This record gives sequence, C-alpha cells and structure tokens, in this order.
Amino acid sequence: MQRSTTQVLYRYLPGAVFFHEDGFIAQVHHASGPRVSNLNRRVLFEELSNELGRWLPDQVGIPDPRTNPDEFVILEPEEVSWDVYPLSFECTNQACKRVVRWFRQRAVLEATNATGELKCPHCNAALRQLWYLTAHNCGRMEPLHTPKCPNCQNVANMYLEDLGSFRSSSWRCRQCGAAIGTRFTPCDCGRYARAGVRSMQRGFTPRDQRLWYPQSLTIISISAQTYDNLQGHPSRGVAALASWLGDETDLAVSLGQLDRPSGGARMSADEWAEQEARLRASGIAETIIDQIRETQGPVVTGVAAVAGTVSDAVVEAAGQRAMVERAGLFDKKIIEDRKSFADLHAQATGADSTAANYARTTMEALGIEDVSVTQRFPVLVASYGYSRCQKEPGTSDLKSYARQRLYGNKTPIFAVPADTEALLVTFDARAVLAFLGHEDDFAGPVPTEARDAKLALAEVLAADPAVGGDGAASKSRRLVHSASHALLRALDDGQSGFAESSLAEWIVPDALTSAIYVASYNDFTLGAFDTVLRRRLAPWLLRTAEAVSHCDNDPMCSQISAHRRHAACDRCLHLSYGCRTWNADLDRRLLRRFWLWTQQRHQETVRLETVA
Ligand SMILES: [Zn+2]
Ligand SMILES: [Zn+2]
Ligand SMILES: [Zn+2]
Ligand SMILES: [Zn+2]
Ligand SMILES: [Zn+2]
Repeated sequence: MQRSTTQVLYRYLPGAVFFHEDGFIAQVHHASGPRVSNLNRRVLFEELSNELGRWLPDQVGIPDPRTNPDEFVILEPEEVSWDVYPLSFECTNQACKRVVRWFRQRAVLEATNATGELKCPHCNAALRQLWYLTAHNCGRMEPLHTPKCPNCQNVANMYLEDLGSFRSSSWRCRQCGAAIGTRFTPCDCGRYARAGVRSMQRGFTPRDQRLWYPQSLTIISISAQTYDNLQGHPSRGVAALASWLGDETDLAVSLGQLDRPSGGARMSADEWAEQEARLRASGIAETIIDQIRETQGPVVTGVAAVAGTVSDAVVEAAGQRAMVERAGLFDKKIIEDRKSFADLHAQATGADSTAANYARTTMEALGIEDVSVTQRFPVLVASYGYSRCQKEPGTSDLKSYARQRLYGNKTPIFAVPADTEALLVTFDARAVLAFLGHEDDFAGPVPTEARDAKLALAEVLAADPAVGGDGAASKSRRLVHSASHALLRALDDGQSGFAESSLAEWIVPDALTSAIYVASYNDFTLGAFDTVLRRRLAPWLLRTAEAVSHCDNDPMCSQISAHRRHAACDRCLHLSYGCRTWNADLDRRLLRRFWLWTQQRHQETVRLETVA
C-alpha cells in the first residue's frame, strides 16, 4: 500500500484501525523506517515533556524525555505492519448469519481453506468480517462481545441483527429465538466512570475516528547554533518580540545585544545629540562615535528598545515556543531563501510587476501584511502515542507505541521531517485591531503605525491567553485560524494541482501568522508556491474571501446555537489532515465579517485618496 509518510503519521500508526484496500479491516501492529537524525532533538524533547505534563501521571505510558532521553528512538514511518482485526466473522447466509470468533490471527489462517475463504462451521457458507468494535478511554479495544444466549446458554448460534448502528442492533439466537441488546461491554480497568458506576466500553464502527487519536506535536526543527542559543536564552521573548515587530530579525544581532553588559545609564536623545556634536567637533572618528552611541546613546531600535517599553506579560507571551519558532523562520540567516512579498514586489518587472501591484492592493484590502515563500520550511511532525475515545489531555490514557522486542526495546517517536515548501501569511495588526474595535471588542485607539498596532494587540493577547472564548484575544486567534484554513482550502481550486489533503497548516495565532506547507509531495510540483506568490497571489486571496461568504452546507452551516457557537464544517473550513487542533475553534462567519469590513474600508480609503 503506497501512502505518504505524513498520511501514515495521521492514520496508520500502531493501534490504528483502518480499512485495507483489499476490503477488510486491520489494526496496525507496528511501523518501521529509518532513524531520523536531521532534527532538533532538544526542542522536540522539551516540547514532548511539556505535552506529557498536560496528562495525569497515571495516564502516561511514556517516559519523560527530559530525564530519560536515551529511552527514545525517532523513526520515519515508511512501512506499516498490520493484523486483520477484529477476528470476528459472520456467516453470509442470511438464514444463518452465525458469528464465529477467533482469538489469534494464526488460527484464522489455519481455518482458511484452499480457496482462501473462511467457511461457516454450521452451514458452510462464506464468512465475512464483523466490523463492530468496543473501546475505552483506558486504551483497551476489543471486538464486539458476543454474548451467550440468555435462554439456551449456547454461544454458537448467536447472530447479530444489524440495523446499521451499534445502538439499534441486537443479538439473537438461531436456536431458540431469544434476543439480547448489544449491551455495552464492561471494562475491567474500573476507571473513567463516575463513582459507583461500572466502567463501560463504547461501541464503534471502524470508520469512527474516536477509536484512535494519534497524539502528535509539530515543531520547527532548525539546526542552527543561533537558534539553539535563542531557545535556551532567558530573554528569548525579547528577541522573538523584536523579530515580530520588525525591529531586528537577525537573531544573532539580538542575542549579541541581550548578552552585552548594560553598562551605565543611557542618555536621552537631546543629551546624545549634544554629546555627538562634541565628539565630532573634537575630531573623533565616526566609527568610534558609532560605538559610543551603541553603548551610551538613546535606545531607538533593537532588543534594548523592546525590553524597556513593553510589559512583562507581553515579553513572557513572546517567549512561547511558536513565537520563538516564528523568529527563527523570519531570520534570513537561518532560512536563507525566504522571500517576502516586498522582496518580490521590488524585483518584479513587466507582467510580474503588474501582478505584484494588483496583489499589493488586494493584500491591503484583506488586511494582510505579508505573504512570504520558502522552499525550506523546516517543519517536523512527530507522533509519540495515541488515545482512544477522547483526545484531550487528561480525558483518557496516553498509550505508548513501544512494543516488546521491537524498536530495540526503546520508545519510538514517529516523525516526518521535511524541508518543504511553504507560504507564510501574516495579517496586519492594524486591520485586526480596528476590526475588533468595529465589533466593540476593543476600546482603545488604533495606532496608525503597524509596529504600534502590533504592540497594542500583543497587550490584548498577553492579558488573555485562553482559546475559544468570546473576548478580543480569543476572537483574534479564531480569526487568524479560520483565515488560515480558508486560505489553505482555496489553494485547492481544482485547477492549480494543489490537493487540500496534501497541505497542512502551521500557525502562530498571536503573531497573526500562518504557514501553509506541503505535507506530501505525491502530487505537487516543486516551486508551485513560488509561482503563486509571483503570479497568482491576488486571485488566490480573492478566491479565499469569496469562498467564505457561503458554504455548500448552508443554511445549516451558518446556524449557530448554544451547542454550536461558531459556523464551520467539512464543506467550508475543516481540513482533512492538516490541522493540529482537529478543526477546533473556527468561525467562517467571523472571517466573512472581517473581510467584508476590510474590503469596504479599503474602498472608502481609495475613494478618499482619489478625491484628495
Ligand atoms: Zn452459516
Ligand atoms: Zn438460545
Ligand atoms: Zn478501561
Ligand atoms: Zn460550512
Ligand atoms: Zn487548524
């Protein structure tokens, strides 16, 4: 079976149940592939340790990589070994339908006759696999339990009256006709149940995603000394913030400034002007004056300017991993080939220049500050375990992929590293802030300078780190996330050759930034994103804005209620593979309002400029 390693990561790791293309159900036993060496282990282990900390200690079946880094092996999953599962079969003769269950795959193979068919021991008709499974939050999964007949106590004559769902179906006895509900199977673990209530496994069809949730994390795996130094630096938030604000994107420079002894007090702008004039008058060389300015002059740019003027909360928020990763991505000494829209616009000539002008107008109209492209987006998606029934930390057991006598008796982490192609979209803080003001979620004035707007928004975001709420911060994050999905889906227009399922999202909502990257090169032309940025940026953005104005599932999709507070569904915003949060916290209506408003505002500005 040919699958991309990314698909394997999301669907076919150990413990997963899947439909084999030959028409049966199987469970992945183990996965194998080469060791991954070109990755930043330190960042991966740090983040994994943080992730594990979100579960209760008795739920975690994985060692802590901070204390036991040597117990792990990191593999790229290229081959998947599976077993036929479940080993429950029913007779295809409608007058019989008796269920036969095996407990070992070997026994099934032995029972298979020369023509490769399993036969009903009762009537000799062919058998087919019975699909239903039960599972529990503790990680247990079993074939649907076949009960004894409550009347004649025999198990050999039971058949399943299958009414299409686990709930409505029932067991019946061919012998005596007695019936029994497909009762929920108790689970021996005695956990995940209210006090005094038995733990129960739940029934699922193999297509149900709840049977197996891969637990994974995505990191930007940059192997550069500067980036490592940044990661471990106590003031990494300052450097990350200076990068996002556009003050200093060269991290080596930022780190140098952070590590410089602060020396004596600095002069005010006036004091320095006087001093500079004096130095110059006395014939001091300009290079010396520059050096003195750097240590004694007023701070206007760079990390020192950031450190002195923003709140501790903002600096702390900027130290979160995603912000630091973004700073790594936007350092041109680290990701050397990244081209911003401004870079391309400045170089464009002829037809490209016309396209670039149009693109710039369109970006302004949609509140987008920059779209960058790189062929070396260093993303790494790693799956370290799985859960059943529920996916959120703390709601179930986190199961390890480790297996006795496999993986050198270590705990495997399955990872797909890629220097892949990506488009990085950053929204304009002024547009987001003004829109929040327009919706009465932000009361302050909207700064006219982009940098000031970023700082104002950063204060709002730092004050409320939650996701999914109704405040300005949550709304801003939801807006960026929704836009990210809409932009990704709009690339799959049926013509350009982008398949939605081969793209994925990497997002830093607090920096108004999302990267759309190529997760599978199966059907993707290298350099295609570069072409989008050079030639087709405006059509792509406009198509995105147009697409969110409606959904094929309307009016249903747009109907919201106390239980469904935002509008998003698989016909408009959901992604099939590429969203780390499984399509949580998206709202097409919010995004639609945003873009209607930015476009209207842009038109008014243009009109005013024309009049003036
Ligand atoms: Zn039969
Ligand atoms: Zn019976
Ligand atoms: Zn259990
Ligand atoms: Zn929808
Ligand atoms: Zn997403």
